Amino acid sequence: MQILFLGTGAADWPNPGPKVGKGRRFSSLLLNQTILVDCGPMALDAIREFDVNVNLITDIVIGHGHGDHINMPVILEIAKLRQEGLPPLRLHVNKGTAAIRCKVPEDCAKLIEVMPFMPGDTFTCSENTVFKAYPASHPVSKDELTTHFIISLPEGKTMYYGLDGSWFPPTTWHAMQKAKFDVIVWELTCGNLDDWRLGEHSNFSMLKIWKNAFTNDGAISPNTKIFCSHMARTLCPPHDLYAREIANFGFTLAYDGLLWESK
Ligand SMILES: [Zn+2]
Ligand SMILES: [Zn+2]
Repeated sequence: MQILFLGTGAADWPNPGPKVGKGRRFSSLLLNQTILVDCGPMALDAIREFDVNVNLITDIVIGHGHGDHINMPVILEIAKLRQEGLPPLRLHVNKGTAAIRCKVPEDCAKLIEVMPFMPGDTFTCSENTVFKAYPASHPVSKDELTTHFIISLPEGKTMYYGLDGSWFPPTTWHAMQKAKFDVIVWELTCGNLDDWRLGEHSNFSMLKIWKNAFTNDGAISPNTKIFCSHMARTLCPPHDLYAREIANFGFTLAYDGLLWESK
């Protein structure tokens, strides 16, 4: 399996334009070149900077409806950039968010198919990659629900994608206990700070507890690769310093453009 991090920042990063440099774009990643998970307003610049082939993208999966994770004009632009004759791009998004934020104009009707889901639902993306959506502690609006995903990949690997969210709700926690994770992407919005945002985001103390607890359950093994993403510019230490610090605990601080392939 392959992951390309297109963006690794929380919503407080300024738009760096075509070259990200030492900044971060809003969090987004490309799974096995075919599935784009989260797609905010800076995703197209990242697609260009990191030479992503949009013709290979079959599915876009959105974790929740905040503006750093979904931008419909950018999603429509990606749909238009794909070569003619491909099956429609599938956009998997929470039912409420689909109704509020995912209007497809007539000229794009054949290019994109909106496929709403709810927490608890399972849906299949390209190459038999199966996403199961679980509730997350992260409010958007009355009708829009945030989800994390346990993703079963065709090569038998299992991934957890958890942006954004605070402490896991019980159903999510119990499902995680039963899994065997090869890869985890957890948010680290608040860095080392006990910040007021912990009601809807997490910090490194929480990640260490999760790692210990899920290791005790066998869901995390020494071979599990754990990435941290969605770092807030104003709350996290500079990348190089922080990457070294959290590496001591077995975590990898992701950066924009990081390409990882499983052995
Ligand atoms: Zn976010
Ligand atoms: Zn959010």
